[in-house]
Amino acid sequence: MRTIVDRYRVTDGKGFRLEHYDPRDTAGHLVRREDADAMLAHGVERLSQLQEKLYAQDRWSVLCVLQAMDAAGKDGTIKHVMSGVNPQGVQVTCFKAPSEEALSHDFLWRAVRALPARGHIGIFNRSHYEDVLVVRVHPELLETQHLPPELVGKNIWSERLESIAAFERYLARQGVVVLKFFLHLSKEEQRRRFLARLEEKDKYWKFSANDLSERAFWDRYRHAYQEAIAATASRHAPWFVVPADNKWFTRLVVVAAIIDALEALDLRVPRPTAAQLEALEAARVALEAEATGA
Ligand code: ATP
Ligand code: MG
Repeated sequence: MRTIVDRYRVTDGKGFRLEHYDPRDTAGHLVRREDADAMLAHGVERLSQLQEKLYAQDRWSVLCVLQAMDAAGKDGTIKHVMSGVNPQGVQVTCFKAPSEEALSHDFLWRAVRALPARGHIGIFNRSHYEDVLVVRVHPELLETQHLPPELVGKNIWSERLESIAAFERYLARQGVVVLKFFLHLSKEEQRRRFLARLEEKDKYWKFSANDLSERAFWDRYRHAYQEAIAATASRHAPWFVVPADNKWFTRLVVVAAIIDALEALDLRVPRPTAAQLEALEAARVALEAEATGA
């Protein structure tokens, strides 16, 4: 599984080119479609074991950021990848259009409030990156953000990206493992998925007219993603450019990347101290005494 992850991990933005990544890629001979379901089930099980240790150790936390164009499969990926983990240890936060309260704060405020506690996994379904993606594509949105005009200059996007990189470096130094996933969908596959949503009654709810209008800005989004990944990929907060035209493969890469990062932490259930062992022994003696009525 590790070799699959290595293909899509970006730890240095220098020279990063989105066009070097094929949304249809399925890692050639490394994975066979017929083995994928079993591999995913195995990955989900492994993730569940690792998450238990993460929780018990209560030191590290994991932040998974999911970004993508519409219909790339964020929701399905979260559902499948997290299907085995204890819900108490995982929080999913969806970043929709910001509320008035959010707009009256700095753009990282929402993200900070949703950060996972130690021992927890936080999933951001969209994230603080929207402020250098949708807002970059539609710069008129900046006007809703109540910024002092002299701070809105021509370098605003590179400044924001610098702030995001600094924020993520800070998080890494605080024990937050930051993993960022761009589910990389082709324009043609998006067209097919939108059509499928329009053809099946059960999928109508997934379609919004807004999806089609954003599709018209495809190239501008692509440019914004290119810039964002190039400016914020680092060893301590890597991006994974995950091929998204085949859902079975997307899920496999995401689960493998999270497992890989957790395995690198050498997680262990904490050993009891001498005082705790004494307390445990006293509890055992007390409980046994109850049963014998002594
Ligand atoms: P689905 O993929 O299931 O449709 P979604 O994540 O697209 O889910 P929507 O409610 O359809 O959810 O869309 C949320 C919208 O909010 C997106 O268009 C996104 O770009 C927008 N959004 C998120 N953050 C911001 C932000 N900071 N400023 C402006 N718009 C934002
Ligand atoms: Mg949507």
